[in-house]
Amino acid sequence: MKTVHHALIQNTPGVSIDLQSLHFGTPGRGPKATLQAALHADEIPGLLVAHHLRSRLAALEAEGRILGEIVLVPVANPIGLAQRVLQAVEGRFELASGENFNRHYADLFDEVVRRVEGRLGADASHNVALIRAALREAAAAIPAHNALDSLRRTLLGLSIDADIVLDLHCDNQGVLHLYTETSVWPKVEPLARLIGAEAALLAEVSGHHPFDEACSTVWPRLAARFGAATPIPSACVAVTIELRGEADVAHELAERDAQALIDYLAWQGVISGPPAELPPARCEATPLAGSIPVKAPHGGVVVYLRECGAKVTAGERLADLVEPMTGLVTPLLSPIDGVFYARESRRFVPAGAGVMRVAGREALREGNLLTS
Ligand SMILES: [Zn+2]
Repeated sequence: MKTVHHALIQNTPGVSIDLQSLHFGTPGRGPKATLQAALHADEIPGLLVAHHLRSRLAALEAEGRILGEIVLVPVANPIGLAQRVLQAVEGRFELASGENFNRHYADLFDEVVRRVEGRLGADASHNVALIRAALREAAAAIPAHNALDSLRRTLLGLSIDADIVLDLHCDNQGVLHLYTETSVWPKVEPLARLIGAEAALLAEVSGHHPFDEACSTVWPRLAARFGAATPIPSACVAVTIELRGEADVAHELAERDAQALIDYLAWQGVISGPPAELPPARCEATPLAGSIPVKAPHGGVVVYLRECGAKVTAGERLADLVEPMTGLVTPLLSPIDGVFYARESRRFVPAGAGVMRVAGREALREGNLLTS
């Protein structure tokens, strides 16, 4: 295992922030996978999964079983992890700018087109190598003026040429679920089964440039841009994995998740050995545009009547919203048939707040599909 230290740009003289990446295997020898934990810094389950992965991957490396390269970023957001407001870590938004740490990643499409135009051919693997080199150059050239810019540039640089990118997040409360780009779903489906995902949400573009899509969506767009004479596969499988809820931090869960990720890397040929048998699917893939939020019509105390993971029907009462001054009780109903997969962890919400989400089969939303 090799540890690389990446010094981020200093916002304040005397205050330095160090990002670390752990490197296993041999670069360039086989497929590359990058895994990172807690880009939203207060989403802790991924930090514990990364902790278990570190020792497992070191052991696999010692046995000579890593066929390609695996990069593990055990703390993807040291800026956010250090932000404390009134005793709580604020890990989702950078305090200085208000920006979500998992949005606004650079779109390298135009830069790559400029670099590869006229050089692509009929050989898909040649095209992939050429595009990966262009992506590396373009990522290295992203302008950065502060710590947040340099965090985004560094993380993208570690993942942009990978075959597999696994970004470990969690929800407030929820069952394990995934987000990924539509065209790579057949390659993600084994991961969904191995890790026991109970919802898998697909989108070609979900809006505001999250990290996973900065890595993966450039490929189908390049394929469409250059046409069939120059074959370009969807060469980056990038997945945002929501490791249940923010309090679901336990060795047993993290060890099981780490094992599932290792099994997936074996299934993808990054680790040698017979691939684990795939368990039955616990969900079908559904459009992210079919994930429908339930919002609070007024402020109040949330009392849940159903647990996350429940299969629910349109009109089913999932929670009560109690307005304690007037005594008003408003039932919160499922807007659709689907899986009740995530909910707010706080039990008092202001008017307009998103309280729950249900994943259904029909794409009913458009525009920006992610929460802020
Ligand atoms: Zn997150």
